[in-house]
Amino acid sequence: MQETYDAVVAGGGPSGLQFARELTRRSAFSVAVLEAHDELSDNDKSTGGTFDQVVEGYDIPDSVVMAESSGVVFEGPSTAEHLEIPGYVLDFPNFLEFLGTEVEDAGGEVHTGVRVTEPVYERGASPASAVAPTGQSGRYRPTSWSTRPATRPY
Ligand SMILES: Cc1cc2nc3c(=O)[nH]c(=O)nc-3n(C[C@H](O)[C@H](O)[C@H](O)COP(=O)(O)OP(=O)(O)OC[C@H]3O[C@@H](n4cnc5c(N)ncnc54)[C@H](O)[C@@H]3O)c2cc1C
Repeated sequence: MQETYDAVVAGGGPSGLQFARELTRRSAFSVAVLEAHDELSDNDKSTGGTFDQVVEGYDIPDSVVMAESSGVVFEGPSTAEHLEIPGYVLDFPNFLEFLGTEVEDAGGEVHTGVRVTEPVYERGASPASAVAPTGQSGRYRPTSWSTRPATRPY
């Protein structure tokens, strides 16, 4: 692990990984994702149900789609609605591993077993994170903080 990155993403769930995936694809920024679990696939927070917009919009391959259906039922405590729209169930652990591989293939880094313990404040903002990689501690600072404006397009 380097000590400086342009962007450090705390948490390798779908949001953090997709963000890192886009950033590594679209920029030359150095990017690291720090995930507390020992494996990305240890995140068991989702059943993986989703829609066309996600599968197509985010370029999700068939290999991580477990099931497809032509209709979706939304159930509430007192009512249910059936919609004739395509639905998908992702293999959630494999979906996360897929996103992690995409980040790495585009030049980013994914570090698991690393818990971000606190933000590091500088000039009233939080440009860096203190982390505890499996018992050690360190400070990882995005290099962009002092040298590049936050509005730099990617
Ligand atoms: C039972 C259940 C079923 C669900 N089913 C669906 C569904 O079918 N379809 C759907 O779209 N959504 C579903 N959801 C919602 C979905 O799981 C969440 O919207 C999604 O996981 C949010 O992604 P995230 O990346 O923001 O957060 P998370 O998935 O919570 O990921 C955050 C990651 O950050 C890591 N982390 C946290 N703190 C730190 C730290 N300090 N340092 C390093 N890493 C850290 C965590 O270990 C975790 O891996 C479901 C949720 C639950 C609870």
